[in-house]
Amino acid sequence: MTLFNDKLFDEGEQLFELNPSKLQCYLDCPRQYRFRYVDRRPERRQFGPTALGRSVHKALRDFYALDPSERTVDALVRALRRSWDRAGYRSVKEAEDAYTRAEDMLRRYHAGTDPKRARVVALESKFSHARSSEGLLITGRVDRIDIDEGQYVIVDYKTGRFGEDQHKLDESLPLTLYAIAVSAMMGRPVSRIAIEHLSSGRRAETWRDRDRQASDWRKLNVVSKQMRDTAQFPPKPSSLCRWCDYLVACPEGRASVRVQNEAPIDAPLPIEEPL
Ligand code: SF4
Repeated sequence: MTLFNDKLFDEGEQLFELNPSKLQCYLDCPRQYRFRYVDRRPERRQFGPTALGRSVHKALRDFYALDPSERTVDALVRALRRSWDRAGYRSVKEAEDAYTRAEDMLRRYHAGTDPKRARVVALESKFSHARSSEGLLITGRVDRIDIDEGQYVIVDYKTGRFGEDQHKLDESLPLTLYAIAVSAMMGRPVSRIAIEHLSSGRRAETWRDRDRQASDWRKLNVVSKQMRDTAQFPPKPSSLCRWCDYLVACPEGRASVRVQNEAPIDAPLPIEEPL
């Protein structure tokens, strides 16, 4: 399903495409953003966790397409079996271990949530929302949209460990971007965003009401102008460097990893995907 906004923009008009992942990448580390989105350098390699995340998301899409009464744990496991993609693993053993992890994760998710309660209105919906006056095209994909007590709720799955603190969610600009785009697509304000952590079945929520969306929109404009216009992409070393696709090309990141001395440089990627 693709949701398009009602605002048309002139053909040929140059809009800067902004999506939550791109924005998160810039906020995390401008240099990583430059490597990925400006220079378009290939990512380091495909790891199992990327394939695992794809399979799990597909399984959840199919599972939530079922009638609520059919959303049993067995149905979820069957959906995982059907959606399981063996590509992206370096050996049969790695693929088997990953499948076991994925199934365990979804069983925990099912036990910790109440999937039969969800009233789903959209699944894996792409959105595209033009803000011509600001020269922006907001794009992205939302995992699920539910309706609860008369309100739309944006639902985003996370495959990593439950680690998001509430303050981080409440301050997240990429989450505001979801709320702004989905509000435009649905033709009514959408302020509630739920993060469902698959490995624990825990759910966290954060809100972006109309005032907050307006004030964050001003910040988003400032940041997107920087992303568009700047020639400076300084490195921002952090604990994320260990899993950065561009670590080999980044002396500051490598120095940071050496100092952290927490794991070998070639450690596998975490399961968590960026927002
Ligand atoms: S290694 Fe760290 S500092 Fe370097 S580009 Fe990646 S995230 Fe940024």
